[in-house]
Amino acid sequence: MSDVSAASPTGMTPGAIDPHVVDRFEQPVDGKMDILGLDRAELKTALIEAGVPEKQANMRTQQIWSWVYHHGVTSFDEMKNVSKDVKAKLAERFRISRPTVVDAQYSEDGTRKYLVKFADGNEAETVYIPDDDRGTLCISSQVGCTLNCRFCHTGTQKLVRNLTANEIVAQMMIARDDLEEWDQSSHGRKVTNIVLMGMGEPLYNFDNVKKAMHILMDEQGIQMSRRRITLSTSGVVPMMQKCGDEIGVNLAVSLHATNNDIRDEIVPLNKKYKMEQLLEACAKYPGAHNARRITFEYTMLKDVNDKDEHAKELINLIKKYKLPAKVNLIPFNPWPGTPYECSEWDQIKRFSDIVFQAGISAPIRMPRGRDIMAACGQLKSESQKIRKSELLRQQKAAAESGEVVVGAD
Ligand code: SAH
Ligand code: SF4
Repeated sequence: MSDVSAASPTGMTPGAIDPHVVDRFEQPVDGKMDILGLDRAELKTALIEAGVPEKQANMRTQQIWSWVYHHGVTSFDEMKNVSKDVKAKLAERFRISRPTVVDAQYSEDGTRKYLVKFADGNEAETVYIPDDDRGTLCISSQVGCTLNCRFCHTGTQKLVRNLTANEIVAQMMIARDDLEEWDQSSHGRKVTNIVLMGMGEPLYNFDNVKKAMHILMDEQGIQMSRRRITLSTSGVVPMMQKCGDEIGVNLAVSLHATNNDIRDEIVPLNKKYKMEQLLEACAKYPGAHNARRITFEYTMLKDVNDKDEHAKELINLIKKYKLPAKVNLIPFNPWPGTPYECSEWDQIKRFSDIVFQAGISAPIRMPRGRDIMAACGQLKSESQKIRKSELLRQQKAAAESGEVVVGAD
């Protein structure tokens, strides 16, 4: 175990919180290098190291990149325009793998939730949410989260590790596999947007998130536009400018409160980075302007942050810092053992109306995929429950037959 200051490329510790991140899992078991997670320059270098003549390196890189990111192939055999002996050489050194999808659930409303198991056995979730005019993929950046926001179930998970760039890119790949989205022109795309709003705090895993986003944005590959990617942070202030400068994606900030007293209580990171610092960093966020506003996420917690006066305080803050902002009101998703309740529907509407009347957009984000528990802060909890009960069933059956079953966790 190491603390986040050692494990995180940012070298920061989040103040009053005492995070522990398990060591990063790096190498695949078979010793081969996974193509997913390499950027194009790294792939070229790796090919040269593997014996591809330098003269051919650009061409081979382009061919492989296209097979991987346009056609979604997972074996070198499928690369039709690559000669047999080169394919054999590649297969000796490299792999194009996918993590295992241990569970895929489809909601009646089209939402799809994938429980993804990585090579070291850790798991995270990825959710696809289709809408009329778009399809959004919600990607995880860590297994668990060190930050313990009081209303979020992810924060209660003990185990935390950063996902590698490979594992972040792989979430897009498994979604496109499942949606049969390969070989499509950008016109017929199903995943049109990415939000880094799954498990984990993306700005505590900056380098891997940055690399993964650049791979997904690569002009010769999937070509996601940076304008269609949104990174959500709970407020890691010193990394926000860097995020804008080096990744250049849209920013969402988990605000959830209108003053430090409330925010200290529900988002403990606020004890380290106060709201004033956070809002100043938002005002300076590179590329933020009216056509490209910052999103404030605001989870509606009954009698905590949902009163009319909070709505007014929120308006004042947005005006005071002259923020090009919109607010997403998220009805709280309760989970077993939580001390909070979701605000009354009428109060959520009132709150939204008050903010709208001040000229600030404040839509209510309707929960999607409720039937498959695909909502914020609930990722992984239900599937763990199901699998634990399945394990118990197996243990019981095994006890009856005299076998031994090893625990899944
Ligand atoms: N860690 C990042 C991104 C992931 S969470 C962050 O905190 O910004 C995506 C959003 O869902 C965040 O705004 C988060 O605060 C919110 N959220 C977490 N648990 C929730 C719950 N139980 N109900 C409603 N929203 C929740
Ligand atoms: Fe972590 Fe975000 Fe959950 Fe807070 S809301 S515990 S930062 S995942």
